Amino acid sequence: MTSNPFPAGGQRPVRVWTAIVDQHATWIAVNPVQGCPKSCRYCFLNERGQTAVRPETLASPARSVELLLACPHYTPERPVAYYTWTDAMALPTTREHLKALLGELTRRGVPNPVVLITKCRVPDDVIAAITAAIRDGLRVLVYLSYSGLSGEVERGIRHEDLRENFPRLADAGVPIVHYWRPAFPRSATPETMTAVLDWAAAHARCTVAAGLKVEAAALPGLARLWPELATTPEVDKAECVYPRAFWDFIHATAATHPTHPLFHTNSCALAYVLGRTDRFGVFDTPVCATRNHCPTGQRDLCRAAARRRRPVREQDVAAALARHGHPDAAFTLDPAAGEVIVRRALPTNVAAALTQDLATRVRVQRQEDDPYWSSGTAGALPLVLDGAR
Ligand code: SF4
Repeated sequence: MTSNPFPAGGQRPVRVWTAIVDQHATWIAVNPVQGCPKSCRYCFLNERGQTAVRPETLASPARSVELLLACPHYTPERPVAYYTWTDAMALPTTREHLKALLGELTRRGVPNPVVLITKCRVPDDVIAAITAAIRDGLRVLVYLSYSGLSGEVERGIRHEDLRENFPRLADAGVPIVHYWRPAFPRSATPETMTAVLDWAAAHARCTVAAGLKVEAAALPGLARLWPELATTPEVDKAECVYPRAFWDFIHATAATHPTHPLFHTNSCALAYVLGRTDRFGVFDTPVCATRNHCPTGQRDLCRAAARRRRPVREQDVAAALARHGHPDAAFTLDPAAGEVIVRRALPTNVAAALTQDLATRVRVQRQEDDPYWSSGTAGALPLVLDGAR
């Protein structure tokens, strides 16, 4: 375990726990093991007392699958990300849990794509378990979170192991998504950004690029790495915060890395790697048309699907709201804008489920205590900072 991540005299936050199964913006998250022995300085788990701790197992693999299938937001096609409140590769106990879970999912024929996210070395026995699961019909994607950050920022991470994961997984036939987030001014140099993307593009199917999420409680710690955060109003309200150099770089990859897709929307990366079409109301929006560097073949698929899709009707929206426990919520359907506006505060997990059910953008009034409020799905906007390094 790494040392206490909090500054001298700083209080370690009380350890809090999340639901074992919940709908997040683009996937269902399943967290049968919670707590991470690492302590990346930007990690949202810091404020929840869940970094630099021993992971706790809260549900067996079999129970995890039962809870997933019983989730009110569950449908067979939704991607499911496992172990998002730990790093599944960090400790042998969690890796054994993962291997048993993959066995349980294949044994029960659970059809949902499986997403695993890591910054740690994926050992050979885990790669073998993943490839066996893929052979048995499970769709498994590994997100490698690689952003050119130092050991001072990603404390406890062995970056050489992380880099080596790319060819090791690719050679085994495991689909890789390069997860590039966050960027700090110190990692937003042309040399670092080019080296990161060159390496990822050689092995991964695509990149998802995102900025830094800044929660109010995390601001003092993050401002030690990026002082401009402390002098910029409302950084905690942004969808993500980006150094200008990183923002410009990730919007120019169609020219610098023309054969490597790069997405600003995770849902589009998943659609591309899974051979699916947009179900999040992204197609033909400015993000689709001008920000995502999406291959022509994928664009053709999304266009054809959008033409085939029956327009959403008021009764579809009403039925979806009722299904998710909000039968009385008033809403406006704007077919021209491809948007549903719900005039009631709803949790973001419900909005995300509605978005996928209807394959349409869903905007809702803010729910003040919603932990996922500052997400793009919920309507927050990116913030780009110009300051000097
Ligand atoms: S065409 Fe647009 S909506 Fe479809 S995957 Fe590409 S970027 Fe996303």
